[in-house]
Amino acid sequence: MQEKIKVDVAVIGAGPAGSTAALSCHKNGLSVALVDKATFPRDKVCGDGIPLKTFKLLEELGFKEDDLFKNGYKINRLKVYGPQNHVTVYGSLQADASTKSGCIPRTEFDYAIYRRAESVSDYVLSGHKLVSIQNSGDFQVLEVENRENGRIRRIEARLIIAADGANSYTARLLKLLKRDQAHHFDGLRWYFKGKKFDSSVHLFYDSRTLPGYVWVFPVAPDMANVGIMLNKKHKKSSGRTIRDIFLEVIEHNPELKKLLAGAQPVNEMKGAPLPLGTLPGSRITDGTILVGDAAAFINPVTGGGIYFAILSAMKAAEMATRLVRENKLPTKENLEPYELWWQRKILPGFFYSDWLKRKFDSDKFSGRFFRWSSRFKPVANFFIMVYGRPLPKGVFKNPLFWLRVILMR
Ligand SMILES: Cc1cc2nc3c(=O)[nH]c(=O)nc-3n(C[C@H](O)[C@H](O)[C@H](O)COP(=O)(O)OP(=O)(O)OC[C@H]3O[C@@H](n4cnc5c(N)ncnc54)[C@H](O)[C@@H]3O)c2cc1C
Repeated sequence: MQEKIKVDVAVIGAGPAGSTAALSCHKNGLSVALVDKATFPRDKVCGDGIPLKTFKLLEELGFKEDDLFKNGYKINRLKVYGPQNHVTVYGSLQADASTKSGCIPRTEFDYAIYRRAESVSDYVLSGHKLVSIQNSGDFQVLEVENRENGRIRRIEARLIIAADGANSYTARLLKLLKRDQAHHFDGLRWYFKGKKFDSSVHLFYDSRTLPGYVWVFPVAPDMANVGIMLNKKHKKSSGRTIRDIFLEVIEHNPELKKLLAGAQPVNEMKGAPLPLGTLPGSRITDGTILVGDAAAFINPVTGGGIYFAILSAMKAAEMATRLVRENKLPTKENLEPYELWWQRKILPGFFYSDWLKRKFDSDKFSGRFFRWSSRFKPVANFFIMVYGRPLPKGVFKNPLFWLRVILMR
């Protein structure tokens, strides 16, 4: 007879969001069951680009940069190429410039966070997939299936934190967040090896991919993650697959060709969807909070989601802790502060990014924008200020924002 699992919080999915949620709940004294259909280490299709602010968040959970950088590459420069290959360079050209961000293969990065979460969670069910949820008032009753032998285990939890990624089964079961093509990107990733890459990341706003882009993110001195992020609507109207467009850009974009000369693909191209943060709908329901990609917290112009996955997981754990300590039921009403938090703190930044993405949809705008940005510092500054930053509502009306745009070096 298997032990009955009864916990404060059941976390579904053990990627960066789920593992962070488990760690944060444990830190606050809650009991946790961590479930993932995969066994770790597992791969995750991604650009592997980890912004500096993510490392800062992880420091709060006791991670040191070196714990995460056992395999990975520190980055101190960003190069953005417009449709006519005008280049804007951000960051120092000196080799010893301080690290701004990093590129770490997700197999390694996710495993580093998972290992810690695994060691502190009360129950860890890897290789188990969620199959059903029932709300029985005081408890959520979950059934998870062992993928090897089909055995079902029951978990009783006061609250569920759903961190099961872009195709969240939890969200589908609970009829939360209807996936919508207008708020999705498709992505492909391909590793290239065999030449020396310096510590720069490269974004190619090629006219074939707008408003998406192709990236080259080095994960080691001799290996780069090369990928593409493409609007679903764009792909449909051009009648070509994302793979065709990716191969065409690799073959015909002169700067990209130069950058990859001498390098060879090391494995198969792999794809995954990116649900974007502008997707309308509630991220809570009775007994459950969605976090990370399950909540579609991906920046609409950069495709970056790791920072938001970790940030939202920390916030969800904070909510869970408050409810357990105050002995309150996790009703939708009691979870409302989480909804208000993401709408106030994350959504305005997504709207600014979405605005930029819609501008980049135009070849003419992008051509002009990146030409000016390669020549005029304030235009380059404007891009980096809006690109990927969680900006507060009304920031364009704030004179300090424009002062920074003009004066930033
Ligand atoms: C092509 C591409 C490039 C990207 N590039 C970047 C980038 O460079 N930088 C960046 O910040 N972001 C990037 N992103 C986004 C980033 O990958 C996600 O935002 C991030 O992985 C979200 O983490 P998560 O923990 O929410 O989900 P995931 O990392 O997807 O983890 C979800 C987990 O849930 C598990 N799971 C799923 N279903 C079930 C189930 N039924 N039962 C149990 N477990 C389940 C999965 O096995 C998985 O381990 C990219 C995404 C794509 C597709």
